[in-house]
Amino acid sequence: MDLSIVVPLYNEDESLRELAQWIERVCTKQKIASEVIFVDDGSTDKSWQVVEELKENIKELSIRGIKFQRNYGKSAALFCGFEAAEGDVVITMDADLQDSPDEIPELYKMITQEGYDLVSGWKKKRYDPFVKRFTSKFYNWTARKASGIYLHDFNCGLKAYKKDVVKNVEVYGEMHRYIPILAKEAGFKNIGEKIVQHQARKYGVTKFGLDRFINGFLDLMTLSFINRFGKRPMHFFGLLGSGVFVLGFIAAAIIGILKLMAIYGGYSARLVTDLPYFYISLVSMVIGAQMFLTGFLAELIMRNSQERNIYKIDTKI
Ligand code: UDP
Ligand code: MG
Repeated sequence: MDLSIVVPLYNEDESLRELAQWIERVCTKQKIASEVIFVDDGSTDKSWQVVEELKENIKELSIRGIKFQRNYGKSAALFCGFEAAEGDVVITMDADLQDSPDEIPELYKMITQEGYDLVSGWKKKRYDPFVKRFTSKFYNWTARKASGIYLHDFNCGLKAYKKDVVKNVEVYGEMHRYIPILAKEAGFKNIGEKIVQHQARKYGVTKFGLDRFINGFLDLMTLSFINRFGKRPMHFFGLLGSGVFVLGFIAAAIIGILKLMAIYGGYSARLVTDLPYFYISLVSMVIGAQMFLTGFLAELIMRNSQERNIYKIDTKI
């Protein structure tokens, strides 16, 4: 099998036929042996019936379908599709016809001939509401800064991968937005970009609300934190905790010195609780100790984790 096309779908019955026929046209013309894996993420409309019908009717392509018991989210759907994929190249594509199957041959070529591990689509001209375009700019900028991967459009549904890449990344939660970052962490550095055509949604409605921006941002923070300190939490919490604790200690020392100066100078000292240093020292020592402990606990958890020493071997001779 040359190519697997993974299509996550959630209530997209209106567009599936058109999509499958279009993919069939493109792949037959290019003579690429392809399979399409529809992952039905718990649709409540007729999507699954349509997938079954397509399996019967589409002859030139191998159509496969996986149906979830309920809605688990796009990341889960992609991950499941990745596990099932058998092609040497894997392309993911949204089911809503916003991504055009006409991009398939070029993406396929970039992976097979130009040596990319991953090629992400870039919807340079987008047909989405203003709020979405605007926030997406900001969010892509942050993702670029945090990851050092220079992509314009991390969340583009249209992406192509070498088989190795999809078998080595674990897309969970809502991490489908950051697959390039996950891929880079797994050691696949050759990440490219291709400008792709984008259409306005023809049928149905978007499945992601405004909370996507908050969640997307939080996920990004998690990723960059885990990337840097996931395997050595004490280096973050321990350092910060010790620093804060030392600050508290200095404040306490100042209180002591002031007291001593008063005693030896023969004048009456201010009450300890009247001094700002008292509060600074109190708060810093408590917070510092807590951070230190957090780091220590995180290290203990890390020691027991199955992933504490994980590595993947590329080749062996
Ligand atoms: N999707 C999914 N599970 C979900 C939400 C979305 O499989 O819980 C699919 C959806 O059917 C579509 C793709 O993910 O094929 C992208 O979703 P959508 O078009 O709603 O996102 P947008 O284009 O608005 O970013
Ligand atoms: Mg869409």
